[in-house]
This record gives sequence, C-alpha cells and structure tokens, in this order.
Amino acid sequence: MNAHRPRKRFGQHFLSDPGVIDAIVRAIDPQPGDTIVEIGPGHGAITEPLARKAGVLHCVELDRDLAAALRHRFAASDKVAIHEADALSFDFCALGDSLRIVGNLPYNISTPLLFHLIDSRDCISDMHFMLQKEVVDRMSAAPGSKAYGRLGIMLGCHLSVESLFDVGPQCFDPPPAVTSAVVRLAPLGSDRPAIDDEKLLGRLVAAAFSQRRKTVRNALKTLLDESELRSLGIDPGQRPETLPILDYVNAANYVSRRDGDSG
Ligand code: SAH
Repeated sequence: MNAHRPRKRFGQHFLSDPGVIDAIVRAIDPQPGDTIVEIGPGHGAITEPLARKAGVLHCVELDRDLAAALRHRFAASDKVAIHEADALSFDFCALGDSLRIVGNLPYNISTPLLFHLIDSRDCISDMHFMLQKEVVDRMSAAPGSKAYGRLGIMLGCHLSVESLFDVGPQCFDPPPAVTSAVVRLAPLGSDRPAIDDEKLLGRLVAAAFSQRRKTVRNALKTLLDESELRSLGIDPGQRPETLPILDYVNAANYVSRRDGDSG
C-alpha cells in the first residue's frame, strides 16, 4: 500500500503525526451511535481510530487505488463502507441523517466542497475538517477583520465556525507548503437568519467584496440606492468588510422582496 505515490492533483498530504491524529479523533469524539462520513481517507490515518469508535463509517475517496486498498483493509468490517467517488458531487444525504462529516480535505477543492456541504446541511449534525489555516481564518473571521469576506459570510449564514488548533506542515507526508488548522462546523439552529434567495445573497456579497476599499454605497450601487441602504440601517459610507452578516442577509431579502419574481 505504501508503494502508492502521492498524487498532487488529488491534494494528497497524508497525516503522519500520531499526536495530531489523536487530537483530531478526540475533537471529533466518535460515539457508538454516530454515522460518520470521512472525505478523502487516503491511507486511513484517521479512518482506523474512527472505525473503532463510530457506529457506522462511510468513506468517500476519489483515488481508485486508495479506495481499493481501503476496501481490502476493511473487508472484514461490517460497519465501514468505502465509496469510490468525488466528494464534490457525492449525495451525502443518501447516507442518512444527523451525519457527522470529517476529513483532512484536499485543499484545492475545499471552498466548492464547503458550499456543496452547505447544500446538504439538513442531514448533517456537525463537521470537522483539516484545512489551510488561511482558509479557516477566513471562515471564522469577525466583521472588521482583514480575513472577513465572502467565504465567512456565506458560511456564517448557515453554520457556526470554531477554529480548534493549528497543525504544522511537518505533521504530513509529503508536507504541504502552508500551515493547516482543524475547524469544527455545525449547522445553526432556529437562530439561523431566514434567507429568501440564496443566489441573490451570493451575488450581493460578491458585489460588496468585488473591490476592496470601496464604500457600501459604491459597491452595491447596482442593487440598492442610498436611501434604501439607510432604511435598512446601513451607513452608505461604511466599508463592506465592516458590515455584520445579518446586514447582508437583510439587504438581500429586501432586494428579493422589492424585485419579486423578476429579481
Ligand atoms: N485523510 C488522509 C488523506 C488526506 S489527503 C490523511 O489524513 O492522511 C486528501 C485525500 O483526499 C486523498 O486521499 C485524496 O485522494 C482524496 N481526494 C482528493 N480529491 C477528492 C475528491 N474530490 N473526493 C474525494 N476524495 C478526494
């Protein structure tokens, strides 16, 4: 199995540090009643300890050779299922509900994968991912901070985001070029803001952040005029990176209702 050569295009950096593997499994804290879905199990660094503790473990691996090796390795286990598939188009909700999703993700697909998982949020109870620290910083950034922007806003509408700990490149084989971090995500409950039109919100946020150092007035001028911004309680002279998530949701909901079906 170790004859496998890491495939760069699959973002393969295998965890090799037992302390970090242990810390991740402890953060996940698998329970016998849990259905866990691991994305990109690779050589199974965290798969093995998860399988020992979880009720059911589904693994989604794109690399045919790695999927075959895992299938062979867990052939005797009736609680581990290996799916040779692309996580970006995988139908997670077909596996059940209250899913706990985990993975040391391929960093090159992390943003589209997060958006795909947001679409599956109704069948997810929580998620633990290893990602580039820079991405985790953007996911968990507060308004007004440099890392705050489109990713944090679009995730923050649906999920709580908690950065757990950083992981250095030396904990992987081969080492990635960047520092990584483990993040915990959980769908928000009833305190989640109601969004009328997710696509419109996405367009509005993209417009707001299309050029840094613009005012809200200029960045959003094709969608909202100054008096509309004021009526929403938004100061048109503010910078987009200082507006809280709820202002974006309220602005998008306002545009959606104003324009009706034609919007
Ligand atoms: N979890 C392992 C491997 C991490 S490397 C460990 O920590 O050691 C990332 C893994 O994701 C690789 O096994 C890679 O083949 C897999 N992968 C890459 N793109 C994928 C995709 N689109 N869907 C599912 N798995 C993918």
